[in-house]
Amino acid sequence: MSELHPETRVVHHPQPPLEGSRPIAVPIYQTSGFVFEDPSVFADGMSRPDGPFVYGRLSNPTVRSLEEAVAGLEGGAGAVATASGMGAINSVLLGLLKPGDHLIAQRALYGGTAGMINDLVTRFGITVSYVPEDDPGALRAAVRPETKVVYLETIANPVTQVADLPGMCAAAREAGLVSVVDNTFASPILCRPLEHGADVVVHSSTKYLSGHTDVLGGVAVFASDELYRKVWHFAVELGATADPFAAWLTLRGMQTLPLRMERHCANTRELATRLADHPAVTAVHWPGLPSHPSHELAVKLLPDFGGVFSFDLAGGRAAGERFMSSVRLALLAPSLGGVETLILHPATTSHRSLTAEELARHGIGEGTVRVAVGIEHIEDLWADFSQALS
Ligand SMILES: *Cc1c(COP(=O)(O)O)cnc(C)c1O
Repeated sequence: MSELHPETRVVHHPQPPLEGSRPIAVPIYQTSGFVFEDPSVFADGMSRPDGPFVYGRLSNPTVRSLEEAVAGLEGGAGAVATASGMGAINSVLLGLLKPGDHLIAQRALYGGTAGMINDLVTRFGITVSYVPEDDPGALRAAVRPETKVVYLETIANPVTQVADLPGMCAAAREAGLVSVVDNTFASPILCRPLEHGADVVVHSSTKYLSGHTDVLGGVAVFASDELYRKVWHFAVELGATADPFAAWLTLRGMQTLPLRMERHCANTRELATRLADHPAVTAVHWPGLPSHPSHELAVKLLPDFGGVFSFDLAGGRAAGERFMSSVRLALLAPSLGGVETLILHPATTSHRSLTAEELARHGIGEGTVRVAVGIEHIEDLWADFSQALS
């Protein structure tokens, strides 16, 4: 093509074909669309999630790699990666519900999800009933003819109630309902809800999956191909799908997920146990402790109990605030699941929209401190916590 002008040459870069070798790491396919030789292949790609790549909002090889990786970890038939955890949750709920439908959700919910469900009720004509996360009888009693979906979280925030996934998902299935489980806090290393009868798993991959506090993302994983195709279609319409660079960062982070989870859990066990023995602490909420109301259920469901816990100080709110401004290593910040230890005050941040009565019903005190434990050396963390307590 020696006759081309420079203006044309700079637009059409050469792309050497890969022959006999391939990249070790998944490449970032930073392109919004794909080129076709055959118009019928182009048409085919538009209509399904597993066809040839056409346009970035529908699918992208880097994003597909992440989707297949998470579907593989969770044991699903397919997955849709989204721009955030809320993108996954919204795609699933809006994709499965329509006006007039009824949703059953557990009481203790991630703040963004709780707000989203309120909007479904006030703006989209969907009704909701709340049940405890460990009461299949209450779930059965809440079922109505128009009930479509049950929404659960494996481990809830911030007092870490554990859902009775086998019991709740079985009750949902008996009633012909689709059960959706937010598995963000457990990660597929500690729990695979599809194995316990769930139909859909959602993640904020912003948290443990990516693990390095540098990317936002979400993933929804489906037990059946039918649900996968239905929600993929809706996520594409919503424009909720993931960007290749975010997918790439998540894939890169996921390579150390099992190692990180092991350390998150071990560090949390140590901190929770030591804090439970500390005179300034009145309660520690972590399902690995025998004193936690979910302990018995957690032991049956989970091999270990995750990297998030919360605790209450004898001095209430003032003591909680003093603690949070006294830590030096732990960072006062939102989010969780990253390598750094982060703390926050649920009553004024993540759960600020709850009334005092709702806070109490969720087991959150005025002085409760939530800790998302990182992978630092445990003695450095303990030195920081003990100096902040004194
Ligand atoms: C963070 C989080 C979400 C929302 O995810 P984003 O990536 O922030 O949109 C949903 N569920 C749980 C349990 C979370 O921790």
